[in-house]
Amino acid sequence: MSFTVAIDGPAAAGKGTISKAVAAHFGFAHLDTGLIYRATAARVIAGEDPVAAAQELRPEDLAREDLRTADVAQAASKVAVIPEVRAALVAFQRRFAAREEGAVLDGRDIGTVICPEAEVKLFVTASAEVRAERRYLELVAKDASVTRDQVLADVKARDARDTGRDTAPMVAAKDAVLIDTSEMQIAEAVTAAIAEVEKVRGS
Ligand code: C5P
Repeated sequence: MSFTVAIDGPAAAGKGTISKAVAAHFGFAHLDTGLIYRATAARVIAGEDPVAAAQELRPEDLAREDLRTADVAQAASKVAVIPEVRAALVAFQRRFAAREEGAVLDGRDIGTVICPEAEVKLFVTASAEVRAERRYLELVAKDASVTRDQVLADVKARDARDTGRDTAPMVAAKDAVLIDTSEMQIAEAVTAAIAEVEKVRGS
């Protein structure tokens, strides 16, 4: 029997860490759907047409090591606006959600569009300032020229694009449980997420 946990929210709110921890705790498979958009964007940066890139995306594209950069993140949010790109990526995500062992998918539209029937829906968020600070600390460890102002501007630009697009905008599903991590340690947020799944599934 499949069991789907949909975890949506903006960048650097903690949903990736929470998703991995929930999947490990329950023995579910985990799909970071942002990687699909990032991998599509990487092919576009290399010169491909966005829709063709999404249609021809292969599993090995998701394993590329250069998908976590700030440039690819911005490019991903640009290709994610294109309805045909999103449509090309729906079937892959729904197949993953239907896995027998259970699945956690994290992204922006999982609870609203990809898996509106998910057994558990969480919307993980935090203030833009807190998220930018977390992202800044990650990025500056690799590149000392990164500035706080630039990272905050990038976070806000991506939020605006993700919430403002016409197709599948980032929004909490009506039946999603909100977890605001602005003033939480990550361990606390993980515990809260696991508790929400246990309410539905049992421990
Ligand atoms: O989650 P991540 O930051 O890797 O996502 C990169 C971009 O991909 C997001 O800013 C968003 O535009 C897009 N995305 C999306 N729908 C998803 C996951 C990601 O539109 N389900």
